[in-house]
Amino acid sequence: MGSAILSIDLEAITANWRALDAMSAPDCQTAAVVKANAYGSGITRTARALAQAGARRFFVATSEEGATLRTVLGAGPQINILGGHMAGDAEMIRDRQLTPMLNSIEQIMRHLEALPGHAFGVQLDTGMNRLGLEPAEWQAVAELVLQAGPELVMSHLACADEPDHPMNEAQLATFLAMTDGIEVPRSLSATGGILLGPAYHFDLTRPGIGLHGAAPFHGHNPYHLALPVIQTRLVAAGEPVGYSNTWHAPEDRIIATVLSGYADGLHRKLSGKVRLWHGDTPCPVVGRVSMDLITVDVTHLPEVPDYLDMIGPHQTVDQLAETAGTIGYELLTQLGARYNRQYHGARA
Ligand SMILES: *Cc1c(COP(=O)(O)O)cnc(C)c1O
Repeated sequence: MGSAILSIDLEAITANWRALDAMSAPDCQTAAVVKANAYGSGITRTARALAQAGARRFFVATSEEGATLRTVLGAGPQINILGGHMAGDAEMIRDRQLTPMLNSIEQIMRHLEALPGHAFGVQLDTGMNRLGLEPAEWQAVAELVLQAGPELVMSHLACADEPDHPMNEAQLATFLAMTDGIEVPRSLSATGGILLGPAYHFDLTRPGIGLHGAAPFHGHNPYHLALPVIQTRLVAAGEPVGYSNTWHAPEDRIIATVLSGYADGLHRKLSGKVRLWHGDTPCPVVGRVSMDLITVDVTHLPEVPDYLDMIGPHQTVDQLAETAGTIGYELLTQLGARYNRQYHGARA
């Protein structure tokens, strides 16, 4: 028995990528967004598996992530930096052959001055008010920028996980108004936008969360998280368990302590709400989730197992996230850096 085991099925991840790829027309490219250590799955194995499955273009948030990814993938695949060209990054962008998505006039000037002739893309803000050039800014610099030969013009949807939200059509109209007539490849959609249909696909889509089978896409679940039981005790009726005595045994109970806690991204908010699983049998968490430990009522099990499952067929990433009051994105990207990640389903 060792540390907690996070098993990641790379075949499920690549199957999700293929399924999302199949939703757009053959001449629409499907990239892979692998920022934040590939949503916590581990960028090395996940990006390699996606490249083997056919992904030729990747997105990360920062140049540092891009430099790491270049080492993982080698020369060839295009690596786009969503944060654009930050001050001080020119050397890394040049040496690691990264393609920044320039998102302000300041970044455009910085890039064209520091690395003339080096690949770049442009990020437009179509209403989210987070990142990218506003329509008036774009109008002012579009001619100059287009002469410099961007590889991609992109924007991002704020409400794509709500198909009926009027913001989707509004952003689509703004994107069209800002980009119609230009000959540069265009991209508007992440996972949610892919599901909105062909009008949103343009020349390239950028799925991230969907590769992990999580909402808004309902794909294959690549994740299984097994937490080791490190101690078991009989708690007599009336005795408390855990910090602040929030739970008292209503009768004699067998309580297992598993090694994992909020330092592994299993939020303290899960206290008293979540269940772990032994095969098909649920086991309720009792008392507070602490930093590295969780206490679980296993009285009803025939014997105490070596591991209990936190994520698996009975409790998906989305379900666990909902219980914690958050979303799959946050849960996945916070899952224990110290977990033993075990990969299967890939060739290399
Ligand atoms: C994170 C991100 C994506 C991927 O989004 P998902 O919802 O995870 O598919 C795509 N584009 C941009 C600009 C992003 O920031």
